[in-house]
Amino acid sequence: MDNASRLNYLEAMGIVVWVSRKTIHVEYQQSIHETVVQVSEQLETATDEWTVLAKEVIECQKCSLCKTRTQTVFGSGNLNADWMLIGEAPGQNEDLEGKPFVGPAGKLLTEMIRAIGLERDAVYIANILKCRPPNNRDPKNEEVETCNDYLQRQITLVKPKIILAVGRIAAQTILKTNESLAKLRGKPHQLNGIPLVVVYHPAYLLRSLLEKRKAWQDLQLAMKQIRK
Ligand code: URA
Repeated sequence: MDNASRLNYLEAMGIVVWVSRKTIHVEYQQSIHETVVQVSEQLETATDEWTVLAKEVIECQKCSLCKTRTQTVFGSGNLNADWMLIGEAPGQNEDLEGKPFVGPAGKLLTEMIRAIGLERDAVYIANILKCRPPNNRDPKNEEVETCNDYLQRQITLVKPKIILAVGRIAAQTILKTNESLAKLRGKPHQLNGIPLVVVYHPAYLLRSLLEKRKAWQDLQLAMKQIRK
């Protein structure tokens, strides 16, 4: 993406940029996630690890969220992405569409991804929980524990070069801490040797326009980590 386009996306996020930045060159790989989802509908003979995992998630009844969900939300994007974004849990729109981050917060997340020079389908996006908690309540500990194996397997399969923990709940869950988002953001972390940066949740940014500048700082920190 050229610098002018990126500046346009940043402007759409409400961010004024004063410093010049280098263009990031990224090789896109074809997203095969849609294929996984389609294949997973005829999975009786599946052997591929992604397909097996997708089938397990689609059929999961390990916690009570299976009773209230419309469908599971597995994840989407490039299965070999350098960037993996991990959110909290599906909301209403995601529960209906079966894809992560498709509502208004998802649109802003897409702008944030473009701000770092990537198209949305170049990254892989997943959530801590694969099912929507009723009324979008916070995930319960037992739900997080039950669902964690799916997320860990997704991380292992994607092998990202960097992980963005999107929002407080994702950050606290992945990093196994109760520290506030204010303390967790602004510095690099690691998850099993993979650089991890905590970013504001786009739903929060939609309510707190003043924080958008800090959101851009988070993304800059992440870009710095992946260049190392
Ligand atoms: N918020 C999240 O954390 N994940 C989604 O998929 C949608 C909204």
